[in-house]
Amino acid sequence: MPLLQVDDLKKHFSATSTGQRLLGLPQRQRPVVRAVDGVSFEVQPGETMGLVGESGCGKTTLGRLIMGLIKPTSGRIIFEGEDISAPSREKTSYLRRSIQIIFQDPFSSLDPRQSVERIVREPLDIHRIGTKEERRHRVAALMDQVALPQRHAQAYPHELSGGMRQRVGIATALALGPKLIVADEPTSALDASVQAEILNLLSDLQRDTGVALVFISHNLDAVRFLSRRIAVMYLGKMVEIGTVAQVYEQPEHPYTRALLADIPVPDPAAQHETIELVGEIPSPINVPSGCPFHPRCWMAREECKTTAPPLYEYGGGHRAACHVTAAEHGGVNEAHQQWKELAHGNR
Ligand code: SF4
Repeated sequence: MPLLQVDDLKKHFSATSTGQRLLGLPQRQRPVVRAVDGVSFEVQPGETMGLVGESGCGKTTLGRLIMGLIKPTSGRIIFEGEDISAPSREKTSYLRRSIQIIFQDPFSSLDPRQSVERIVREPLDIHRIGTKEERRHRVAALMDQVALPQRHAQAYPHELSGGMRQRVGIATALALGPKLIVADEPTSALDASVQAEILNLLSDLQRDTGVALVFISHNLDAVRFLSRRIAVMYLGKMVEIGTVAQVYEQPEHPYTRALLADIPVPDPAAQHETIELVGEIPSPINVPSGCPFHPRCWMAREECKTTAPPLYEYGGGHRAACHVTAAEHGGVNEAHQQWKELAHGNR
């Protein structure tokens, strides 16, 4: 049984709740921001799933939905076989222990008035776990686990480096022994050398504790290092999903190919696809018709403007939402036949 199953999940915001100025438009005419728009995937126990995409693609909103920090517009989030989209009070308490988050910016996510020891202990205090002495030992063990020297126990966040602060955030996330951690761009606020240390730490912790990770990042190198499977998001939709080997070695979606082509290679003489993505990611208020990637896609055909591609199956769980690569593969499944009929009908 998957640990986490996300099923046709949508989160649409009214444009007013995203700070857009709407000049007195009535409620029903206000545009809708499709932050997450029909996303489905699974995470197995102990697995690391990478979620990648440009800023504004909906990956952080998806992380917040999984955490229960915001409610979905529709769709289901199933954790350990149970729908947690609208949990009971007891279930909420269990989920708060079982699903934790590591934030992007450890400085703003840590209480500046509390010492490291208090910050890491807080989840144990809230959930009344162990005696005072046992909590003290647990905090010391957590600090050892994330290689945070014990001499920092009474330090305040502003006295620590960015890497040390992120170690505090990770120790706090581990305090209750979660089954799943959502790590939302946990290294993007850090220097390059510190990023590598934190990625190594997450990898070791994942191996030692068996916790599953949803690793959200725009950094494809980091995702490749840490993840077993990867999902690529564009404008609130999943456009490709597969194992790291499938997606990095045989990307099927043009957007994935463009993202991969953008990764610098150490050897300038090495063969490397060159793709320059034109234009910016469109606003999620005005999602293009048909395939949402078509205004930026160098492979687009007329039909791409009218018919949204489904996630075509390429075998072994590798799926990508592109009509044209599906056609190049000779029509990978029945869905492709349906597209051809739909596209024909739309002419
Ligand atoms: Fe490009 Fe068409 Fe494929 Fe969309 S469906 S990615 S527009 S080729």
